[in-house]
Amino acid sequence: MQILAHELKHGHQYLMQEIDFDKSGRHAGFLYDITDEIAALNRQNLFSDDVGATIVHPAKYAASHYGDRKKGEWSFGTLFEGERNGYCRDNRYRMYQK
Ligand SMILES: [Zn+2]
Repeated sequence: MQILAHELKHGHQYLMQEIDFDKSGRHAGFLYDITDEIAALNRQNLFSDDVGATIVHPAKYAASHYGDRKKGEWSFGTLFEGERNGYCRDNRYRMYQK
């Protein structure tokens, strides 16, 4: 249940243009950053229980398991106009189109 909650959070992030995929559609894209993982870890913690489920410290867990991810909070909405134009023009990423 925790894994499902974690991955559904990523699905929501995709719909909100907070994460994306690369051109192949198989790997994380430009917008994916460590805060996306911290948010997903927080979500999975909500579904912990006393029967074998695990509560993790989101920031520490993300730092040790996703330390190579970009720092800061990247999403399409936080990009400057020029960055947005470049992002769309280059067509190197796959973002949910609202
Ligand atoms: Zn994740």
